[in-house]
Amino acid sequence: MNHHYCPLCFAEIPVAVELCPACGRNIEAWERQTPYYDRLIWALKNPHSEVRMGAILSLANQKHPEAAGPLAECALDYPVDVVQGMAVLNAIDHLPAGTEKRQALEKLCKHPAHAVRVSAQERFDRIS
Ligand SMILES: [Zn+2]
Repeated sequence: MNHHYCPLCFAEIPVAVELCPACGRNIEAWERQTPYYDRLIWALKNPHSEVRMGAILSLANQKHPEAAGPLAECALDYPVDVVQGMAVLNAIDHLPAGTEKRQALEKLCKHPAHAVRVSAQERFDRIS
């Protein structure tokens, strides 16, 4: 089953509504006025894991170096979600090398999930 969520307040909403019934804001206008990259970064805070996962995959394709920090925060916000943590690491692999990437991997070396921590450390060692 497909769920639709307000991109602003993250409430579940009916398909194709212009105003969110939960927060009352104009979803269509927000989507039109907010750059795609900014919407993806905001979506990393969505409580629904499938929305976050979509944003993680899209950010990998966008290849903005500054996405590394928010991606790492997203992984750390959900310490038990190993699948998402590994997806974040794969997304960071796609980003250009630089300070943002190194700092994000350094943060993820302290991730509570063992698998994420070990993979982050491997990547960090490779680029250091
Ligand atoms: Zn809303």
